[in-house]
Amino acid sequence: MQPKTAHSARALRSQGALAVLRHVHAHPSATRADAARALGLSSGSATEITSRLKAARLAEETAPPRTGGRGRPSPALTAHPDGPLGCVVDIGHEEWRVACVELGGRVITEDTGRHSGSSRLVGTLAAHVAALHAHYGRRVRAVSVCAAGTVSRTTIVQASGLGWRDVDLGPLTPPGIPLLVGNNATLAGLADARRGAGAAARAVLHLTVEVGVGGILVVDGRPVDGATGAGGEFGHMPFGDPALECPCGARGCWDLEIDGRAMARALDRPPPPDPRTAAGEIIASAPSDPAARDAVARAAHALGRGMGALVNGLDPDVVTLSGLALDLAATAPAPLEEGYTSALMRYRRAAPPPVLPSPLGPQGPLIGAADAAFDVLLTEEGLDAWSRAQA
Ligand SMILES: [Zn+2]
Repeated sequence: MQPKTAHSARALRSQGALAVLRHVHAHPSATRADAARALGLSSGSATEITSRLKAARLAEETAPPRTGGRGRPSPALTAHPDGPLGCVVDIGHEEWRVACVELGGRVITEDTGRHSGSSRLVGTLAAHVAALHAHYGRRVRAVSVCAAGTVSRTTIVQASGLGWRDVDLGPLTPPGIPLLVGNNATLAGLADARRGAGAAARAVLHLTVEVGVGGILVVDGRPVDGATGAGGEFGHMPFGDPALECPCGARGCWDLEIDGRAMARALDRPPPPDPRTAAGEIIASAPSDPAARDAVARAAHALGRGMGALVNGLDPDVVTLSGLALDLAATAPAPLEEGYTSALMRYRRAAPPPVLPSPLGPQGPLIGAADAAFDVLLTEEGLDAWSRAQA
């Protein structure tokens, strides 16, 4: 079997197979003709590569429905029905999801549940991953986690929303399967930079507000997440009141100026047990309640100020927003704009980076985690390993 495997791995490496697969993953509705055009391949080469990808169980062709027009439509390139899968685990503040995602990003199976924040959740999730691995076998190429907390390598070092500290996610993955762990804001930013509002830009600053504010700078489709993956914890930059101590241990964190805790404080209310829900309620009541409107305006202004500071420091082409940041921008656009402009260096004010809403919604972190999983497969080494697994 060895010579055949080596031959098949070489065949996949050569002449654009990897480029075509990456194109199929990034553009799930692309036809063979679209891929050929985008990659500068002749029609003959595209056909030949496609037949190799089919033989390797990596891609399939699906005939599009006939439209009644003249000529035969080009078939769409899609995931192979026995093709590789990423297993994605989403650890949110109150809910979890375990999903299998195929090339192109379609979710083929998904389990969800609620949790109370106990770190026993890791065992529950590991059992779900093990069941999927038992069912799909070698088709599962990586386990990719998006977590609502600060991530360093494969450990959640701190998640104040969950009450977790130093929770190792190593037990989540079966032996021999790579484990990737990312912060949910980082992965939402990755997805938005590749597939969302930032898709046309080179340097994308993504910011999201849930409990606190997080985000990431993504350059050329790669998150700038530092030495251990913990980069992008913008919410713990000292843009806030130094009299306030953050659960992270630092003082004056930006987090404390923006989310439900900040708005409750502005309204002289006690710290809410669930800042995300509290923020949503306060924002919803802003149109009819002047005090709530002021609290929202202060939070939006603080978001704008920090955004300007990050633009000065990171120089993105575009800023994209998700989560409650969109609600703040929609409810209090003027304070956000004033905060943003006032924090920008003068030379930037004439043409500041545009601020755009992410179209991906709450699916952003999951889509980003799936992309991170396919980044493992869609390399020469990843395709070699796939060929060996098929032998
Ligand atoms: Zn902090």
